[in-house]
Amino acid sequence: MKNRSLLMIPGPIEFEPAVLAALGAPTTSHVTPDFIETFGNALEQMREVFLSKDGQPFILAGSGTLAMDTAGANLVEPGDRALVVSTGYFSDRFAEILERYGAQVSLVNAPVGGRPSLDDVEHILSKDHYKLMTATHVDTSTGVINNIKDLAALARRYGTLSIVDGVCSVAGEELRMSEWGVDLVLTASQKAIGVPPGLALLIAGPQAITAFKGRKNPVLNYYADWKNWLPIMENYEARKPSYFATPAVNLIWALQVSLGQIIKEGMEKRFSRHISISQAFKQGINALGLKQVPLIPDYAAHTMTAPLFPAGINGPEFLAKVAKAGVILAGGLHPIIRSKYFRIGHMGSVNMGDILATLSAIEIALSECGYAFEKGSAVSAALKAL
Ligand code: PMP
Repeated sequence: MKNRSLLMIPGPIEFEPAVLAALGAPTTSHVTPDFIETFGNALEQMREVFLSKDGQPFILAGSGTLAMDTAGANLVEPGDRALVVSTGYFSDRFAEILERYGAQVSLVNAPVGGRPSLDDVEHILSKDHYKLMTATHVDTSTGVINNIKDLAALARRYGTLSIVDGVCSVAGEELRMSEWGVDLVLTASQKAIGVPPGLALLIAGPQAITAFKGRKNPVLNYYADWKNWLPIMENYEARKPSYFATPAVNLIWALQVSLGQIIKEGMEKRFSRHISISQAFKQGINALGLKQVPLIPDYAAHTMTAPLFPAGINGPEFLAKVAKAGVILAGGLHPIIRSKYFRIGHMGSVNMGDILATLSAIEIALSECGYAFEKGSAVSAALKAL
């Protein structure tokens, strides 16, 4: 029997064979002409995927947390006011990062599974000048999606830079950086971008770059400093050799392949595929009588689902049984509800077959745990939702 499981956690995800093949190809020099072409291409492709006309892309070796750290290091100066719109664990991480660089951070919170209202955010922005505001597009700890279009418009109205953590959204959820006026979007390679972990990806819009160039204080992080990276990104895009720190050569070859596949599918099609897969999956979960962490359906992301365990089900035992049935899912992460729910990622090249296999494995595990439900109901509800 083949030793294969379906990886359905909210990142890393299942990767396309062509992407994995690029990772296994012989490593080239980072200044060889064909790698320079690949790096330059990947920077240009990023603009298409983030729907950014005029942003400056950065491709760095690191994870999503480095992308967050880079945004904080380059945009915060000691004493700056920053507002964090919190929808969970990863929003709170951003608050810690901004504080580390000397920001005076205010948090606007909501109950777990909720999101702060636009009125709550506006109330704070209208009281003082905030240099920047962060929002997590999809907080992976709650599965809550934020209303980035309206938040970015609000920030723009108050002269505040909007920074979006799109780690669990970019290339899956609708996000239109230029049209919505988002000043910085960041992500990591291992989620809907479709490349194994190891790349921190950011696009800084013109106003973020202007704020960076107008800094009065040095950036308090050597590796992340855009002063070091801007010439490198500009040179690669101009197809010129350049070096500050060794890029993750094979991951960038793989990135070019994956971004190419994403662009070939088309962003509009990709957004709507994620919506229909998510709706089908959530119908399946509903049919089993399981509730979800997001308080109302409008708050639920399309790249993942966060169901609550039904009463009497032992979480670790259930997840082990799902794994035995061939599907790997993730446990809870939000500290307040950690043991009460589980998480499924359905982003990137995920298809209906993956969703049906996942629902089947959940049905098998629930049944073995003694939960009473009509067998086949989840799979059937998902099929009907198509
Ligand atoms: N933000 C969000 C929304 C995330 O989901 C994650 C990772 N799950 C991160 C930030 C941090 O990314 P990484 O684990 O790649 O450092």
